[in-house]
Amino acid sequence: MIYHELGASGVKISALSFGAMRWQSEAACRAIMERGMDAGLNYVDTSTGYVDGKSHVWVANAIRQRRSDIMFSTKTGYGQAHKAKIFEKALAERLKTLRLDYADMVQVWGIETMATLEAALAKGGTVDGARQAQRDGLVRHGIGFTFHGPPEVFRAAVDSGEFISATVSYNLLNRKQEDLLAYAAERGVGTIIMNPLGGGILGMAEREEFGFLRGPDAGSAYGALRFLLANQNISASIVGFSAVEEVDESARALAQPDELTESYRRTLIKRMAEVPQPEGNFCTGCGYCKDCPEGFKPPKFMKSMRDFARYISESARLAPWLASRYEGAQAAAEALARCVECGQCEEKCPQKLPIIQEIRRAKTSLGISKETP
Ligand code: SF4
Ligand code: SF4
Repeated sequence: MIYHELGASGVKISALSFGAMRWQSEAACRAIMERGMDAGLNYVDTSTGYVDGKSHVWVANAIRQRRSDIMFSTKTGYGQAHKAKIFEKALAERLKTLRLDYADMVQVWGIETMATLEAALAKGGTVDGARQAQRDGLVRHGIGFTFHGPPEVFRAAVDSGEFISATVSYNLLNRKQEDLLAYAAERGVGTIIMNPLGGGILGMAEREEFGFLRGPDAGSAYGALRFLLANQNISASIVGFSAVEEVDESARALAQPDELTESYRRTLIKRMAEVPQPEGNFCTGCGYCKDCPEGFKPPKFMKSMRDFARYISESARLAPWLASRYEGAQAAAEALARCVECGQCEEKCPQKLPIIQEIRRAKTSLGISKETP
């Protein structure tokens, strides 16, 4: 394994680490984490919301006997419900339930606007609570933030001096945040990459256009991960493994570290610019958009639309595709018709995907008018 300093925190983090929002079962989580920890992965990014709340518990069960091998990172929000006192109590209760003595890091989730950052940093806010939890021994290393907003908010969060890490979406298909990675690294804030495979697209065996990313006995995830490993401004990338074999395959990307240079990275960027960019949405299935006041299920719908664009992309076949993916034809039609386009789901989407536009497209395909329930 390659280990990097997490900014100026003094913490050494494995360059490949665990994302924890895609476990298929507790058995799979345990097997994957065992294999990964054996390979030297030492950081897991979890949250209470992942896998309907089960991820946290499964991860805690998987690491309890090997607690010193791995850093456990949990998350919190920034609003009224996450004020300092409330947060401290909630974290203590969370750790008690998980039967863990401490978390290694707490990340303030979803810093997107100046207002959310100010709320997190306000006196008596989440960061105050996390600091107190750190003084109480419940948080070992410090506080990070996860980011989905504009650059000025990111820079302000880094400049606040309160955070040891920033978790950012970045990959070979989407390099929008590249300058921010350098900004954080130069100021001693570690950078952790989420969505390293572009919602899985970069690792898909059937995408011939990404063949240049394949390695010896390895699929295109090999090159996509090496692209990140070659970036000196990146501390770690969290990979959402869904099978033990994916841990082994990802570990192959660590081979020949001497080749992981800036010039290698530039070559991959150049090659990527030469291939047609994939169309369709890049839904990662994160589920952040799940609470629709009308009872629609945006994550299920958006994943169906993403897969339709990848595998079929033939308008006439959208209606039967959605029917098969969204609980049958009638349920799909009724659910779509309920959407009043309030925009709440789009606001929560970290990828800023045009959910309403996709809903409109599906409604047209299914012949649904606004009045048809
Ligand atoms: S835009 Fe539609 S799907 Fe999204 S939250 Fe509003 S009603 Fe639900
Ligand atoms: S549409 Fe956005 S928020 Fe919803 S599951 Fe997909 S990536 Fe996540």
